Amino acid sequence: MLRHRKAKIVATLGPSSQTFDQILDLHEAGADVFRLNFSHGNHAQHRQTYEIIRSIEQKVKSPIAILADLQGPKLRIGQFTDGSIILSEGDRFILDTHDALGDSTRVYLPHPQLFQAIQTGIELLLDDGKIRLLVETISDHQIITRVITGGKLSNRKGVNVPGVTIPISAITEKDRHDLEFALDLGVDWVAISFVQRPEDVLEARDLIENRAKLVSKIEKPKAMEHLIDIIGLSDGVMVARGDLGVEMAPEEVPTAQKTIIRECREAGKPVIVATQMLDSMIQNPSPTRAEASDVATAIYDGVDAVMLSAESASGDFPKESVSMMNRIIRQVEQDPFYLNLVQVYRPSIRATIYDAMTSAARQVAQTIPIKAIVTFTETGNSTLREARERPKSAVVALTPNERTARMMNLYWGTLPIMCEPISSLAEMVRKASDKLVSNQVAQKGDHVIVLAGVPFGQQSGTNIMRILEIDSDYKDR
Ligand code: PGA
Ligand code: MN
Repeated sequence: MLRHRKAKIVATLGPSSQTFDQILDLHEAGADVFRLNFSHGNHAQHRQTYEIIRSIEQKVKSPIAILADLQGPKLRIGQFTDGSIILSEGDRFILDTHDALGDSTRVYLPHPQLFQAIQTGIELLLDDGKIRLLVETISDHQIITRVITGGKLSNRKGVNVPGVTIPISAITEKDRHDLEFALDLGVDWVAISFVQRPEDVLEARDLIENRAKLVSKIEKPKAMEHLIDIIGLSDGVMVARGDLGVEMAPEEVPTAQKTIIRECREAGKPVIVATQMLDSMIQNPSPTRAEASDVATAIYDGVDAVMLSAESASGDFPKESVSMMNRIIRQVEQDPFYLNLVQVYRPSIRATIYDAMTSAARQVAQTIPIKAIVTFTETGNSTLREARERPKSAVVALTPNERTARMMNLYWGTLPIMCEPISSLAEMVRKASDKLVSNQVAQKGDHVIVLAGVPFGQQSGTNIMRILEIDSDYKDR
């Protein structure tokens, strides 16, 4: 769907956005990718949501991407006899392997791996960092801690252990089950949570077997140490600031965000900035100035997509949140300095035919008015390399492959359009013109660039560039 903007919007679905009309509203307001969050909901609900999105796709006649986000190994404490306890600074508190209800002296910690992975002197962060415990003594069965920051601690709250690699797979039993389910449905992207090491990404890849594209969520400081390898093995990356902000000091998150974005742009992998982008819109119809500015900053940094979580999934203003994000992005992209700022970071051009062609196309589109750079693509690879160039004109991807078309909705500046396979140069010109005119990307007299591989139908990589003047007669033929 033609959006008149480059950066994309990922909207998480949930109780506030589950009917056909609600999801259609979000799509019309600007959501390009829908996220199914497997930390919540059951399979029957996710199936229903999935089917609604696919029926919206039929209605609007354009491909939509669906991202299944797996919960991952979120560590949690067990439960308390009274549901919660109060901890005070200086108290002694024990986490142990005893599967019994807890009290103000102890609680069950159902993660035996943790007892070996940590040392005395480190801090455990509970409930998104609200409670801090200093580890004083560790045995095989218990971790004795001293409360540094107290407060109310209730059942099944999360546990974060900053700076420690916990020897558990990024993919739990629940994740495996959810993954198979999501792949059976036909999701386009899968996100894995709490990636720590390149091996975590490889493990997910083995399970996915090319049935979907893979996003690695960066939400552990450990992942930052292996960032380039993790990006290299992934198809996309999410800056998951919710958990990242618990494991790192708040002042470290912006630099981490910019580092991740820069490395993803260098590698040519789509990058999503997520969490708390318009957080106050969970309850309010308009965002704070700081939130509007946060979204704008990500756009000026050249991210592929920005994401809404509770704002669209469980908030009171899901549609308003999407449309606010849409407006902020469009406003930034109309700034005459926007493209200069995005291009301040210019990724290196590799010595490949792809990069020679895609960077040349960007250059042409900067020299003369060009409405679109059109790629004919089976896999989306050439389109992604063109999007990496962050060109001034639209990047249009014509593909006969429906899965490729859906998936490319996450790519910066990319408009995926379904198109029958082509077999000759004449057909290439005619199809490109038809599709651009009928999708209102270009009209008679406009110039566009077409990139393709000849001979057609033989998986030839991109090897020709044609500058084409649209002749609206093409449409009538
Ligand atoms: P989550 O991931 O919403 O699944 O926790 C995003 C984040 O941590 O920011
Ligand atoms: Mn998270």
